[in-house]
Amino acid sequence: MPSSADRAPTTRVPTIIVQGGAGANPAEAGDYRQGVRDAALAGWRVLADGGAALDALERAVRALEDDPRFNAGRGSVLNRDGAVEVDASIMEGDRLQCGAVAALSRIANPITVARRVLESRRQVLLVGEGALAFARSVGIPECDPASLVTDRQRKRHAELARQPATRGGGTVGAVALDRNGTIAAATSTGGTPGKLPGRVGDSALIGCGTYADSSIGGVSCTGDGEAIMRVVLGHRALRYLKDADDPDYAAKVAVDLLVDEGGGQGGLILIDWRGRVGFATSTRLMPVAMMSPALDEPRVPF
Ligand code: ASP
Repeated sequence: MPSSADRAPTTRVPTIIVQGGAGANPAEAGDYRQGVRDAALAGWRVLADGGAALDALERAVRALEDDPRFNAGRGSVLNRDGAVEVDASIMEGDRLQCGAVAALSRIANPITVARRVLESRRQVLLVGEGALAFARSVGIPECDPASLVTDRQRKRHAELARQPATRGGGTVGAVALDRNGTIAAATSTGGTPGKLPGRVGDSALIGCGTYADSSIGGVSCTGDGEAIMRVVLGHRALRYLKDADDPDYAAKVAVDLLVDEGGGQGGLILIDWRGRVGFATSTRLMPVAMMSPALDEPRVPF
């Protein structure tokens, strides 16, 4: 297996896989199918034009953040106080560069802020008001917080008082391999419904919700954030991938770890350095779509 440092210039078969959150209601599968398909296609177009994995991911994740059916960007779940606070992270696996934001409000596309944090190379994770100030300083406009709140989530928030839920699905993420052999991964979420203000989940944490190492692969996780953090799921999944050299098997073993040792439910998507994809979930539904040159159109296996 080559190390990213000495990887010779090479041409790889580009691939992208996106996920729309573990734990969604299977009765709503149809709602998610179009969204993940379109996002995979949006990212794929960048890769097919010879573009970089990071650009493909940003395009795919922004599409899902803009889609009100998903729990990211517009359409995010509401916290205890009825506000949207989002987490997002992105990582490029050649030089292990990463950027993340947490507990961020008033931003429609948090993945773009995370990307700018990555590009700044000065810090990895910015939170709350500091993250918002950074976004402003790099020219990312604030939005009206009310524009991120959908009727669906407003209703759900009202129902939470009667029937508390800790997880709801709809988190988004993507992993891509570009022609140069660079692997990148990204995750974006509104978090858990009714969460305490200031709660940060795995999606903002490198090694937990997101990880990429071009010599092994990339991963984006979803599910019970506290359990994912306890087992450092993203990094552990790539360790399994390195040992087993089988993306589907690695994804399954990682999900077992989440359930057995983390005590939570969830799933993840993977791409290995050869461009093979894998995914697994312990929940009834995790929308997934993938695209590569071998396919005429995105494969949507759910
Ligand atoms: N992992 C996310 C969080 O805990 C939620 C999810 O993926 O559904 O914030």
